[in-house]
Amino acid sequence: MTARPIAEHSAAPPALGIDLSTPDPIPEEGIDRAVALMRTGKLFRYAEEGAEPSEAARWEEEVADYLGRRYVIAVNSCGAALYLALHSLGLQPGDPVLLNAWTLAPVPGAVEHAGGRAVLVETTRDLTIDLEDLERQARAHRGGILLLSHMRGHISDLAAVQALCAEHDLRLVEDCAHSIGGSWDGQLTGTFGDVGCFSTQTYKHLNSGEGGLLATDDDEIAARAILASGSYMLYGQHTRRPDLARFEDLRGLEPNHSMRLTSTAAAVLRPQLRSLPARVAQWNERYDRIAGGLAGVPGIRLPERPPAEQFVGSSLQFFLDDLTGAQITTFCRVADGLGVHVKWFGAERPEAFTSAYTSWAYAERRALPGTDAVLSTLCDIRIPLALPPERCEDVVAILAHALDHARAATTHSPNQPGR
Ligand SMILES: *Cc1c(COP(=O)(O)O)cnc(C)c1O
Repeated sequence: MTARPIAEHSAAPPALGIDLSTPDPIPEEGIDRAVALMRTGKLFRYAEEGAEPSEAARWEEEVADYLGRRYVIAVNSCGAALYLALHSLGLQPGDPVLLNAWTLAPVPGAVEHAGGRAVLVETTRDLTIDLEDLERQARAHRGGILLLSHMRGHISDLAAVQALCAEHDLRLVEDCAHSIGGSWDGQLTGTFGDVGCFSTQTYKHLNSGEGGLLATDDDEIAARAILASGSYMLYGQHTRRPDLARFEDLRGLEPNHSMRLTSTAAAVLRPQLRSLPARVAQWNERYDRIAGGLAGVPGIRLPERPPAEQFVGSSLQFFLDDLTGAQITTFCRVADGLGVHVKWFGAERPEAFTSAYTSWAYAERRALPGTDAVLSTLCDIRIPLALPPERCEDVVAILAHALDHARAATTHSPNQPGR
């Protein structure tokens, strides 16, 4: 008997035929609302003369009720919300801001924008912030601000984080760009710290193209953020805001940074919050199906997620721990060819959305061996609702085939560079 040629190692499954980057469409109710608003021309959230609360003000009320927070300020991106959070907490030039080394570029970008010094904190093998390293950095920098990302929806132990912040005098800002709808031990993310920030950019859980939210219970932070976001002297039109008296001392002091959300964006968002719980259940059904399938594929490791972490499975991360970089490149190429776009965080040159700290030349460098090890084999796929649940096993089959192929290709070609 002769050995089978590599090409036949495993028959390729059919291509998926569904674009995994498909965003959620805007609900018809949101479209109708936005069109009606366009007919009036009143797209700016503030009116010079007495008016009904704008769509933006209504949107803020609805999010505040959903989160159970006193104040919510809608702005034009999560990056802007993060900036405003740091600014309103009184960050001074050169002050340290501790943040996850594994996060998205707008996070260190917001620190830079606010004049802070980004101090990157190590990542665990289950993709949360490394609490031991966090404690070391908090000690070394004596307090400051922790800007904690629930990156790709991975929620750190928030009870432990809160205790650590209290012990080390750290103010906590949660970056919930990927975690609205998620909770820790029954409490929604974005409600654990001084400020919670959210994104309504197309690829997150609420879609207005661009948009962000800042949520807080603190009067001073809210008043400063409303003024600094660009409310002019029309801040009285925010219906969830501190007493007008709180603004008196701050009026002339806060610069206007023009980070407002349009009423059109708010109009398309409002019905999406109502459907969020149902959509979270749909994401999680798909996540569970794919994760369940991948758990049976030797060579693919899924991060462990504790029961207290009630996450939103809008994307899925996995590790190819025993593959070389060259093999992972092959894996991604084969999966991509079959319609499953995989992002590999260990690629030398970051592509698309950058999330490798090594590409942020403006942030202070420190040795992060734990994060390096994590990123070197970390892969990620999007889980759009456009993927029907019954097609999830096709995604698993494609990834399993790509893994088979990547292993076989390298085993059989001696010219391939090694580990
Ligand atoms: C997308 C994202 C942001 C930034 O959100 P924008 O609204 O695009 O500014 C911040 N943090 C994380 C973890 C993100 O995924």
